[in-house]
Parts: sequence; C-alpha cells; structure tokens
Amino acid sequence: MVAVELRTDSETSPLFEATPAVRRTEMEGLWLVEFDLPGEKVNKLTTEVLGLLDRVLDAAEHSPGVRGILFLSGKEGAFLAGADIDEIAAIRSAAEGAVKSSGGQRIFRRLESLKVPTLAAIHGACLGGGLELALACRYRMATEHPRTQLGLPEVKLGIIPGFGGTQRLPRRIGLARALEMILSGQSVDGPKARKMGLVDWVVPPERLRECALDRMRELVSETSPPRRRSARSRGWKDRFLEGTGLGRWLLFRAARERLMESGGEKYPAPLRALEVIRKTYALAPGAGDPIEAEGVGELLCSEVSKNLIRVYRLSERAKRVLGLRGVAADPRPTGRVGVLGAGTMGAGIAQVLAYHEVPVRLRDVDTEALSRGLGSASRSFQEAVKCHKMTDRESRRKMGLISPSTELTGLGLCDVVVESVVEDLDLKKKVLAEAESHLRENAVLASNTSSLSITEMGASLRHPERFLGIHFFNPPHRMPLVEIIPTRKTDAAVVATAVSLVKRLGKTPVLVEDQPGFLVNRILLPYLSEAALLLEEGASIQEIDLAMRDFGMPMGPLELLDEIGIDVAAKVAHSLLGRLGKAYHSPAILDLLQSAGHLGRKSGLGFYRHPRGRGRKEPEEEGIRPYLQEALRSDPMVPRRDISAREVRERLVFLMVNEAMSSLREGVVSSADDIDLALILGAGFPAFRGGLLQYAESQGAAVLVAQLEKLSERYGPRFAPDGLLRDRSCRGTSLLA
Ligand code: NAD
Repeated sequence: MVAVELRTDSETSPLFEATPAVRRTEMEGLWLVEFDLPGEKVNKLTTEVLGLLDRVLDAAEHSPGVRGILFLSGKEGAFLAGADIDEIAAIRSAAEGAVKSSGGQRIFRRLESLKVPTLAAIHGACLGGGLELALACRYRMATEHPRTQLGLPEVKLGIIPGFGGTQRLPRRIGLARALEMILSGQSVDGPKARKMGLVDWVVPPERLRECALDRMRELVSETSPPRRRSARSRGWKDRFLEGTGLGRWLLFRAARERLMESGGEKYPAPLRALEVIRKTYALAPGAGDPIEAEGVGELLCSEVSKNLIRVYRLSERAKRVLGLRGVAADPRPTGRVGVLGAGTMGAGIAQVLAYHEVPVRLRDVDTEALSRGLGSASRSFQEAVKCHKMTDRESRRKMGLISPSTELTGLGLCDVVVESVVEDLDLKKKVLAEAESHLRENAVLASNTSSLSITEMGASLRHPERFLGIHFFNPPHRMPLVEIIPTRKTDAAVVATAVSLVKRLGKTPVLVEDQPGFLVNRILLPYLSEAALLLEEGASIQEIDLAMRDFGMPMGPLELLDEIGIDVAAKVAHSLLGRLGKAYHSPAILDLLQSAGHLGRKSGLGFYRHPRGRGRKEPEEEGIRPYLQEALRSDPMVPRRDISAREVRERLVFLMVNEAMSSLREGVVSSADDIDLALILGAGFPAFRGGLLQYAESQGAAVLVAQLEKLSERYGPRFAPDGLLRDRSCRGTSLLA
C-alpha cells in the first residue's frame, strides 16, 4: 500500500494513510517531502509514487502559504534508485513506453516550474529517475559519502533517460560531461558532482538534513537567489566545443566514433541517447521531451533492452542468494582472512580483500613470490588511485591491511582461509592440512582451485564440513564472478559465510556443484580448444577472433588464450577435457606452442605478437604456420581453406550451448539463469544477447539440435546434441525453464 501523508504541524491532512510512500510535513512554511516506499530497501519511482508526487505538486500550486520544498529520503542509504524495473519490463509497446515517459516528463516539468525554491537533499543512490527528479529541482545538496552516487544508468538497461534527463543534464553540467555520463551510464560521487556543477553543496552525511533545512530557510528568506557554486570554469577548448555549432558537431562526431568502436550497433541505446541530445540540445526547454519519449518507447521494445533487463534482474537475484539451496543458515564472521600463496591469484585476492577493508594474512613459502605478490597488489591500488577511486593515502592505508609472512603464524586469528597455491593436488592437500591444524574453531577453509576436485581435497581434512571451493576469476580485482563450490559434507553455515564474504567484496556468487571445471571453465575450455582446432583446420587467427568479436565477445578466443597463458590453458585442457567425455581432446597446437616457449602475452608471443609497452598486438599468422603443420600430424583435422565466419560462430557458440545443457542436466547449477549470469560475468558472454541460453532460446531448440547433428556427423561426437536439449526440443519446452 502506498499513500501520501500530508501533515502540517498541527493537523493531519485528509491524504494521510498508514504507510506513506511519500510523506509531507510542514515547518515554517517549508514543505518536507520525504520518499519512503514501504517494504522496500530503496525508493523507486513507481507509477504510484509519481502519482503521489503529482498530488503534492498539485497541493503546492494551490497553497499560497508554501515557501519552499525540500525533497528527502526516509531510507537509510538511498535517495531514489530510479524507475521500477518491473514496471519497465511490463511495458508491451513503443506507444505505451512513450506515454509513460511523457507522464514523468510532465510531472518533472511541473516541479521545475514551481515558483518557490526546491532542493533535493541526496544521500546514497540517486540514479535514473531519481537524478532526473533532482535535476528538476532548483538546487541539489549531496553528501560526501562514497555511497552517494548520482548517475543516469539507463543505457545499461538498453534504454535512455526518459524523464527529461537527456534534456536537463547537458544544460546543467555542459554537453561534453553530460555525454560522458549518459552514454556510459556511469555515476559520480558527491564531491565530483559538485566539481561538475551537478550539485550545489556537499555536506557530511550526518548533517544532511540539518544543512538542507538551514539552506532552505536561507533560500526562502532571500529576495535574490544565492550564488550557486558554479562548475569548474571551462577553458577555451570547452567553450569552443560546446558554444559553437562546429564545436558541437565535432563533439557529437567524436562521441559517435567512440560508441561505434566499443559496442556499436549491438548496443543501440547509447547511440540513440546521442541522437536525442544532438537533435534537442539547441531547442527550447520542453521542446525536446517528445523526442526523448519516442526514443524511450522504441528502445523499450527492442530485443536488446529486454535482454539487458533480464541480465540486470538475474544479477539482482544473485545478490539475494544466501547459501545452500533451500537451507537458511547464519553466516559466520568474515572479519579477517588468510590467503595461502601470493601468486597471480593469491595476491589478487588479498588486494580485493584489503580494498574492501578486510585485514589479510598473506602467506607464501617463497620470499620473492611474496614480494612480487605485494608489488602486484600495490599496482592494483595505484590503478584505483589513477582512476580517482581513492586517494593515495587511502590506498597506502589499505595496502597496510595486507600482512605478509612466510610462516603459518597468524592463521589462527582468521575467520576464513583461502588456499591459492600452485595447481597440484598433493601439494594442496598438504597445505590445507597444515593450515587446518592452525585454524580456530568454526573458521572456514577454502580452495581457489580451477580444476581439482574439492571433494577429494576435503576428504583428507579433519573437518571437511568447514571446507569448500571459492573460485575467483583472473584478474580478481576486475572479474565480478565467484563460483562457490560446496561438497556434500560442507555445512550450510560455511556456504552462507562464503556467500557473505563474496558479497562483501562486491562480487556476484554463483553456487556450483563440485564437478570437473565447475561451471564457467567447463563451458569455456571446449570453446577455446575448438577455436584452436579451427585454426589447425585452416581458419586464420584473425578470422576466428573477428567472428567472435562480431558476435559480441569482448575478445576473440585466441586472444583470450594468449591472455590466460598458453601453458595454463594447455594444462587445464589436458586435465579437464578428458574428464568431460564426448571425445573432447586438447589440441596439439597448444602443447607445441608451449614447448616452444610461446606462452601468450606473458612471453610476448603466442597467437599474437605482443609488443612491449603500448603498441598494438599483431596476429602471428605466418609465425604460427610451422606449428600448425606439425599439429595436423597429431590432430586428425582435414586442412581446408573455406571456413566461413558463420561456421566459426556456430561451432564455437553451439558447442558452448551444448555443454551448458549438459551442465544443467547434470545439476552443476540449479537453473539456466545461473548459467547465463555466470557466463556473462565470468567469460564475457555478451550481455546484449541476454545470456548463452537466452541466445539459444532465441535460435530455437529444434534448430540447435539439427545444426549440432550436422556438426556431429562432420566433426565428431563432441557436437552430439545433449539429451536435455533433445528432450526440450521434442517437447517444445523452453530452454530457460
Ligand atoms: P601461481 O603459480 O602464480 O602462484 C602460486 C603461488 O603458490 C606461488 O607464489 C608459490 O610460491 C606459492 N606456493 C607454493 N607452495 C606454497 C605453500 N606450501 N604455501 C604457500 N604458498 C605456496 O599460481 P596462480 O595462477 O596464482 O594459481 C593459484 C591457484 O589459483 C591455482 O589453484 C589455480 O588453479 C587457481 N586459479 C588460477 C587462475 C589463473 O588464471 N591463474 C584463475 C582462477 C584460479
């Protein structure tokens, strides 16, 4: 139930109801309008809330006594998180979408036209419709807390701001900065917003209400409006780019080029936002609203928007995962964590922990490895400083949370210990047993293995119930996915603890069964090895990588192999592909390149030649030829030259779909949704396609079965359609069920 409460000092208005979503109190002629959506953690601009706001504005227009309006949030850490995603997803036609957008525009124009001063007092998320509301106010005050984020993230859902955001933001902060924010969907914090001129004042969070009220009192008592804190003064370049027709033309052209280079037509929303701003920037206030509304309506009905909204909902759902399926358990504390092994992953995990304020004990047997690990953690912090995510001082303080050691001392103080030593079962068993003897009661022990059996590792422990897999992806500070792999013996509370730690690190947990390759590697490895086989057959490096980039992958499979390291990939391929059955085998080219020391980026040469410094990498088409000829002797591929981009795509993507269906059938994860989210977050599967199985669904199960059968006849049983895929095809049921 949502309602509006209109309450004055002495009386309660007839609009009052028990659980108000928008409260209005009156104080010395000032109206305090407070958003507080019942039963929700954050405020959303639902149709009902917008309606209530409309009624408040109605009342304001007809109340001669009102001297100013202050907008606040009744929620702890969020101002207004934007429109309601469920309502957006329910829109069925472009016309309906445009009408919704016009409705919001009308209300915000009304707010903007009020004769009295209006101020939005912002703490926490002020996103999408929330920022559009704040932009329609005459003044904005934000807190300096990092939790305060202002932005228009609509393009991330495949749409554009629809309540006047494309109209007001460029006028408020300038065209160049507004394009940057709207086209990327990125948000800014309070201090940055003040520098841009997006907010007028920044205050400490605990003083927001008091400062906002003081400011309102000043505003209503002044005859002339106070001087606004203006945006940082613009240089001649900005004045030329934004203030002249030629400058704006150049600005729009450069922005378009950047968009075409990044996602291009695959992501139509940023392109449309750019077009709307280009067409409307010079129009009178309000005149561009219909163009914005039309853009929202058309994009809302696009396949891409539906897919992106699906992905958004999947990640929101994943954030609510608590632990083992159906078992509620309280997580144990995660105040201090130990990491064993300071290599690529161990050092990365330690850095992510420290970044999120978790003190870490980092242990390696090798002093040099330890100092290399600390160096790499420190570089990640420096990267964050360069991107203005933190100050240098803060980064040094956080770096100080990592305490290195070559001894096992200090593990007894840890709540969780993550093993990340070299991928060797016997060594890991030894390291885990050693660590276990130092752990305090109830501490959780985890392994970050990529390919070994968690169950087998746990079998030799005294407390297998406290052990599980927590599998981070490389590089840990960038990759948002973490697979959590309980064994049959792991306690529910231990799983809940791992989930809570992963969430604390801002990552998305996916619960996965302990089976070879867990989930992401199980699907990715067949894809990567198929790409190597295509190369052996005769497709060029560029043809293969371009085909998959065109499909939407952030990089081609051969580029990815170079990044992973050909030695690492060959090792995992050997240990994993055989265990998956289906006559998968590790391509000979990987072993040959590894023996020759061509390991990819780290050695400067792999499928590409990687120059030192900033130069562009070049495909090694010629250099790789002798290895390919040798590989053909071991791999029974028939050399040919007529491999089309379509064949490359079908073999690579359909193979992944097939493996995903096998994972689903075997219960590796509990739903198709988990597969789709994990592949997007862990393997870079293009979000605009909605996920691997959403893509498969769009192709149709029957088509996939028919194509896989053809591929299987020609290339072998690894393509034989999975039983579950056949079953869904015969029954005509959804692959997403
Ligand atoms: P790495 O070789 O870079 O680092 C391993 C570290 O373990 C080395 O510094 C080594 O000195 C140290 N070590 C060896 N014995 C030790 C002991 N007894 N106690 C403490 N430290 C010891 O390896 P990595 O790439 O960081 O991989 C580590 C683990 O993470 C492996 O299980 C691997 O499968 C997994 N993993 C790797 C990746 C990746 O892309 N590299 C991704 C996900 C998971």
